Amino acid sequence: MVVYFKKELFNQLLHFSQQTMPEEACGLILGKSTSSNEELLASSFVPMRNCSTHPRIHFELDPAEMIPYLTNNQNPVMGLFHSHPTASAVPSAADLQTLWHTIPTHWILSLTNPDNPELMVYQIKKASLTGYHKLAFVIGQ
Ligand SMILES: [Zn+2]
Repeated sequence: MVVYFKKELFNQLLHFSQQTMPEEACGLILGKSTSSNEELLASSFVPMRNCSTHPRIHFELDPAEMIPYLTNNQNPVMGLFHSHPTASAVPSAADLQTLWHTIPTHWILSLTNPDNPELMVYQIKKASLTGYHKLAFVIGQ
């Protein structure tokens, strides 16, 4: 599986995450997949509220805020995004317990090094031993 998106989308993720510092930012990535699910095209980002009681170290989406997007088949949700203000771009134990493992991709942007933000895209499987694996992605102009 390879994920394609434009630099503009990356910049949106970065700016929103920077604005939300020192708390974790989160949101949904909308886009399409090819019929084989081998290629995913991410087209837009919908910022969401982090309603965790510990938003500096954890994120939680409000299902009521997500549902209209999850049920919109014209513009499907293909990714769940959140930032790690002070941790690397690796899923935490809590991230692996996600309720949203049916969403095909999980995006983590680390702001640990402000000059060199690090984005990773993962597939997170429910109850598998390895839990997650990295996906390749391509940023177009
Ligand atoms: Zn996380």
